[in-house]
Amino acid sequence: MAAADDRPFWQRKTLAEMNDAEWESLCDGCGRCCLNKLEYEDTGEIAYTDVGCRLLDGESCRCNDYANRHAQVENCDRLTPDNIGSLNWLPATCGYRLIGAGRDLYWWHPLVSGDPDSVHAAGISVRGRVSIYEHAMGELDFEDRIVDWPTRIPRKARKPPMPNGDGRRACRKPKRGAA
Ligand code: SF4
Ligand code: SF4
Repeated sequence: MAAADDRPFWQRKTLAEMNDAEWESLCDGCGRCCLNKLEYEDTGEIAYTDVGCRLLDGESCRCNDYANRHAQVENCDRLTPDNIGSLNWLPATCGYRLIGAGRDLYWWHPLVSGDPDSVHAAGISVRGRVSIYEHAMGELDFEDRIVDWPTRIPRKARKPPMPNGDGRRACRKPKRGAA
């Protein structure tokens, strides 16, 4: 008899095989996809801005009306197992994009860490970084709001924090000559 596969669902299922709850939980809550983006017609290049969608909550990094988001915001695309591979504006850190590409989730993903705040602690989320919301833009130009941090993984996210109580210390050693 074959051994049971006890890997977590995101490692043993394809996107198409996931149930609704599993699918929803793949979102790490970063909010990066809810920033306004520009696409250059001639090159297809995507540029992120720090301008939030009008329904984005810049603190929780969640949608303020998730159930009705498609009716409320015209260009809020529905993610599906079939279109994930073609949505080039999704950040490379997106849980859907990672699993769709056959990769694993990062340590900060709440499914891995068990902590919904880890995506914020790792500096991956948009918390505190949305400078303005689209409905308040007025005469401002989106091109003036282009930023590159949503395409990057910050240094503090590259390694999981050291667990407490494992005998290693993160403090600096004393200066020479200190009493
Ligand atoms: S980029 Fe992906 S993981 Fe982040 S909020 Fe959007 S759907 Fe969720
Ligand atoms: S409507 Fe909600 S889910 Fe869609 S882009 Fe805006 S904040 Fe994000």
